[in-house]
Amino acid sequence: MSRIDREELYPQPDEAGEEDLWKLPLAYGDLEIEARFLGVASSQQSGHSHPGEIVTDKRKCAQCRWFEPRIFRETGGERRYILYTIGCSDVPGEKDLIRYRYARDAYEAVSNMKTPHPQTGVRAIVGVTKRMFEQAAAFDPELKTALEEVGALPTDDDNRTWRTA
Ligand SMILES: [Zn+2]
Repeated sequence: MSRIDREELYPQPDEAGEEDLWKLPLAYGDLEIEARFLGVASSQQSGHSHPGEIVTDKRKCAQCRWFEPRIFRETGGERRYILYTIGCSDVPGEKDLIRYRYARDAYEAVSNMKTPHPQTGVRAIVGVTKRMFEQAAAFDPELKTALEEVGALPTDDDNRTWRTA
């Protein structure tokens, strides 16, 4: 029971690879970019972790609150990357928390999206962000190379699996 139509508001997975003038909602107004949409992933899960239809407090529930990162690349000019991330919430009284930032190149884009490991503090590309980059790598060779170099994707010439430590 979404209160807002996210499929209408935000670019969807089947649009990845498309070049367009995208109008991305911000807290106030829109971000307009001439860009190729490279990838998106969602951490939303089906199944609530609590009784009832919607969580009513700060308890974690990956159906009520979840994270959706998206990545774009400018088609002209400096061809920067745009990271557009949404903390989604279906909880009444809460709004989607939208952030965006530009990255000059693929290495900066990857670096910006690293998450610290809860115990070791080692920063890596994991989880939903990793899935977003996996989709994006198929459309952008420079991003693919940068991801391979930090071990977020298996390289073409070996089948080594990525290790967290
Ligand atoms: Zn829930």
